[in-house]
Amino acid sequence: MGTKGREIVGMDVKKVLELLNKAFADEWLAYYQYWLGSKVVSGPMKDAVIAELMQHAADELRHADMVTTRIIQLGGTPLLSPQEWVKHTNCGYDAPKDPFVQRILEQNIKGEQCAISVYNKMIQEVGMKDPVTYNMAIQILQDEVEHEEDLQALLEDLGVILKK
Ligand code: FE
Ligand code: FE
Ligand code: MG
Repeated sequence: MGTKGREIVGMDVKKVLELLNKAFADEWLAYYQYWLGSKVVSGPMKDAVIAELMQHAADELRHADMVTTRIIQLGGTPLLSPQEWVKHTNCGYDAPKDPFVQRILEQNIKGEQCAISVYNKMIQEVGMKDPVTYNMAIQILQDEVEHEEDLQALLEDLGVILKK
């Protein structure tokens, strides 16, 4: 990382890196959960749900990319093996054991709600002490809020169908 770029970080860089690596683990697990969910999901409105899950998977992978870029800028090392994702994740991994649409949507909504908390906390903690990380976290938070809303809208539409 550039020396001036590091100098302006007004807090312990190690602490920022720890937050970033935990979020990095979350993003990979979220990516995999969406990706696999889009393959196994079954039930009513399947096509609409698959399209949304695939789009979200792509977003989570893009988030992993954004977080890694920042980790490397700060002179850190992204978690080097998938085993470490499980060890450092905030939000965990919810295997899509039941492929029914409603269950898959509920699992991913839970994941998004966790992601919203994680990035909101990062924003509070980092604040203007590290404006670059702050800006990254805001961009990701905006996506996670949209993800939650999209999934809850699908669940609502599905509820209408299931009640018939
Ligand atoms: Fe994400
Ligand atoms: Fe998300
Ligand atoms: Mg969406």
